[in-house]
Amino acid sequence: MDSSSRPWKQGKTKDLFLTEDPQVLRLCFRDAASAYGGLIRGEVPGKGSVNNRVSDHLMRYLEAEGIPTQYLKELDERNTLVRRLDMLPLEVIVRNLAAGSLTERLGLKEGTRLGRVVLEFNYKSDELDDPLVNEYHITTMGWATAEELDIIDDVAMRVNGLLTALFDRVDIELVDFKLEFGRRPDGTLALGNEISPDSCRLWDKRTGEKLDKDVFTLSRDMARDAYLEVARRLLGD
Ligand code: 5GP
Repeated sequence: MDSSSRPWKQGKTKDLFLTEDPQVLRLCFRDAASAYGGLIRGEVPGKGSVNNRVSDHLMRYLEAEGIPTQYLKELDERNTLVRRLDMLPLEVIVRNLAAGSLTERLGLKEGTRLGRVVLEFNYKSDELDDPLVNEYHITTMGWATAEELDIIDDVAMRVNGLLTALFDRVDIELVDFKLEFGRRPDGTLALGNEISPDSCRLWDKRTGEKLDKDVFTLSRDMARDAYLEVARRLLGD
């Protein structure tokens, strides 16, 4: 692996590198942290390694349960080989409890259990600040077909059930999370990007303590401890 090679795509917290196989990419998790769409930025030492290993663990678990993912092979602490996908420009948000932008939008108290699982879509655009969109916007703009949205709905609900059960076993409440989907060359949808404390709200079931990216806005040391705690519980580190 040539660590000096330039990324093919550089994100706020991860880089993507091309490999010799055009269908395979190398995903590299940095320690960089970003909140509020990049308004707050910094470094949380060790975060890249936790996110890489936690995301791989969750992707492998979902794959074993029949959910197609991008995951191919963990290379080392920060690097994973993934299938190249044609990513949909959408964030699929799954919510079990009210938190974050939902509490602000609807004036709900943080932690309110929702009567049913709520699914939302954001259009991925830094310039527009990832606006909330619905099925009409998505199909009209050609970001996904109605058939793909049916599959996304079904997969997102199954992933929620599987991840909620997994986190429950280690006394963590899965409050909400973000999924991203992409198309494989044959058109089938698979989970891409990452599933980690950067993309999920995770609360300690016993203490209510936050174990996710929300802590980064308070303190970098607390964020480091929170990320390490998730890795310890899930991976037994
Ligand atoms: P909210 O809409 O409340 O800000 O976020 C809902 C859930 O989706 C949270 O678990 C949050 O971490 C995740 N999420 C929303 N937008 C992004 C994003 O741009 N990047 C990442 N990594 N996660 C996001």
